[in-house]
Amino acid sequence: MLLQGKVALISGAGRGIGKAIALAFAAEGADLVLCARTVSQVQAVGDEVRRCGRRCLAGVADVSSAEDVERLVAEALREFGRIDVLVNNAGISRDKPFMETSRAAWNETLGVNLWGVVFFLQAVLPGMLARGSGCIINIASGAGQRGLPGNAAYSAAKAAVIALSQALADEVGTQGVRVNVISPGPIKTEMLAASPLQGFLLKGNVRMLPPEDVAGAALFLASDLSGGMSGQALTIRNSNRW
Ligand code: NDP
Repeated sequence: MLLQGKVALISGAGRGIGKAIALAFAAEGADLVLCARTVSQVQAVGDEVRRCGRRCLAGVADVSSAEDVERLVAEALREFGRIDVLVNNAGISRDKPFMETSRAAWNETLGVNLWGVVFFLQAVLPGMLARGSGCIINIASGAGQRGLPGNAAYSAAKAAVIALSQALADEVGTQGVRVNVISPGPIKTEMLAASPLQGFLLKGNVRMLPPEDVAGAALFLASDLSGGMSGQALTIRNSNRW
C-alpha cells in the first residue's frame, strides 16, 4: 500500500474532493486527521475511514481560525505523534462580479482559502522540519492560474496559494519537505453545483470530472511515487480551459 504507516491531515474532508482524498488515502493504508465545520459530515467520513480499518480523528475546525487550527493539530499530535502528509483542501467560493464583492466577502474568501493554508502550514511544518520529512499538498484551482471572471477574490486567493507553495517548496526543499499544488478544473461537487458560474464553466462540451480524479493526483503526490517532485502544480481538468 502506498501510504502504509503514514499519518495524513486533510482539511475540508466532510464532502466533495476532501472526502474523496480521505477515502483514497485510507484505502492505501494512511491513518487520518480530518476537519470541516459541519460535524455530521466530517464524522460520517471518519466512520467510513474507520470501516477501512484505519485510525481517524475527525474534528470540527474552521480553517480561517488560527485557534481552531492550532487546537486540531495539537490533538492530532497527541493522538498520532506526527503528521506526515498535510492536504490543505478546505475552500469556499463566493462568486460575484468584482463591483458587487464586499470587503467582508473578500475577507471571508481570503480567510478560508489563503489564511487557512497559512495557519495549517505554521502549525504542521515545524514538526516536519524537525523530523526532516514531510509532504504538503495544497489544493488551488484553475482559477488561480487564469483569473475567473465573476470570481476575482477566489482567483486571487488561489493564485496566492500557488505562489506561496512554490516559494515554500524552494525554502524547505533541502530539508526533506516536499510542497506541491493541485489545480482542479470543474469537479462534480456541491461547490460547483451551487455556483452561478457553472453555466459559464461548463459551456461547450466541458465535462465535470469526479472528485476521485483529484484524489488520484493527491495520492500520487502524497506517496513516494512522486519522491522527486516539489514546487509543482498539477492541473486536473482534461482539456478544459478553467
Ligand atoms: P465542497 O464545498 O464540496 O467541500 C468543501 C469542504 O471544505 C467541505 O467539507 C466544507 O465543509 C469544508 N470547508 C469549507 N470551509 C471551511 C472552513 N472554513 N473550515 C473548515 N472546513 C471548511 O467543495 P469542493 O470539494 O469542490 O472543494 C474542495 C477544494 O477544491 C476547495 O479548495 C476548492 O476551492 C477546490 N476546487 C474545487 C473545484 C470544483 O470544481 N469543485 C475546482 C477547483 C478547485 P463545511 O462547509 O462543513 O466546513
